[in-house]
Amino acid sequence: MGFEINEKLRRFEPYLPISGDFRARMDANESFIAPDSETIARILAKIGSAALNRYPDPYAEHVCELFANYLGVYAENVVAGNGSDEIISIIVSSFFNKGDRILTFSPEFSMYGFYARISELEHISVHKDEDMLFDIDEARSFINGQNIKGVFLSNPCNPTSVGIPAREILRLAKGTDALIVIDEAYMEFYGDSVIGALKDYDNVIVLKTCSKAFGLAGIRLGFAVAGNKIIDALKAAKSPYNVNLLTQLAAEAALSDFKKIRQNISSIIEARDFLYEGIRGLEGENTLFERVYPTRTNFVFIKSANSSRISEVFRENGVAVRLMGGFLRITAGTREENERAIRILSEIRGE
Ligand SMILES: *Cc1c(COP(=O)(O)O)cnc(C)c1O
Repeated sequence: MGFEINEKLRRFEPYLPISGDFRARMDANESFIAPDSETIARILAKIGSAALNRYPDPYAEHVCELFANYLGVYAENVVAGNGSDEIISIIVSSFFNKGDRILTFSPEFSMYGFYARISELEHISVHKDEDMLFDIDEARSFINGQNIKGVFLSNPCNPTSVGIPAREILRLAKGTDALIVIDEAYMEFYGDSVIGALKDYDNVIVLKTCSKAFGLAGIRLGFAVAGNKIIDALKAAKSPYNVNLLTQLAAEAALSDFKKIRQNISSIIEARDFLYEGIRGLEGENTLFERVYPTRTNFVFIKSANSSRISEVFRENGVAVRLMGGFLRITAGTREENERAIRILSEIRGE
């Protein structure tokens, strides 16, 4: 008998992002703003003189310093990863033992559960309420009563776009010994981070990514921010040269201009508000969608019994949006793209 893929892995299917030719990609929550020509020139200059025959800095120290600077924390409290996805994978696979219980509140970013399955953890998923929130005190009792070892939540949340105030998150972390992982991939659009309070918590990890607000999804760069004990463990568990040299150089060039980054974030928030208001404007008498959730991210989350049909009409119009069961997630784009999205929705409503 030859080699057999084990039972666990046979049940997995490769992750398939939406593919095909679209004139507008509003499905993956990327930034619609590409790096400007000055940033590109700085990146190229750095790569032009780089020693590509050598391994990169294993801890991407310069990049961590720049990002720490941006966040207002010490560089020693920051670890870089090949996307925050890699860091999620390291945390899930190294910080727990097989069979340990981890908790998420659904709907939630799917990768926490994905890595938990690979690592043979017990993933418990509790439904959020109608407003896509959950009771913090109940959650805390549940965590302590059910021997939960880790809690993963994105804040503001992908996919629901809803934000939870920092003081609530900290209230959850305070009353438990479980590891609390707060994924702040979209925090730039909300501005209520728990990072400032981290020094008082030895059970909290904050995750950040360059893929959304920073407009650098292509370079694959994310960060963990935590107290020294956790950071040391992450450094011990990660693979040695996890952030490649080209990524480090691109990030050094791009993260040296905070002013530009802040301008871009404002533009994305403006676009998000335009898209949100436009979609809200279609609510009312119609039955096209039941609910448009208040957004603290760069996308709009919609509950609709017509979600499949809406997504199909978007596709026919060359626009990719994300269909998630009875929900749609539409990423803010350029003014033209947002206008088109609103127009498509209003045409479906008019049918
Ligand atoms: C997009 C996203 C990530 C992935 O970030 P990468 O750095 O690109 O791996 C992580 N968490 C959430 C909640 C996201 O939406």
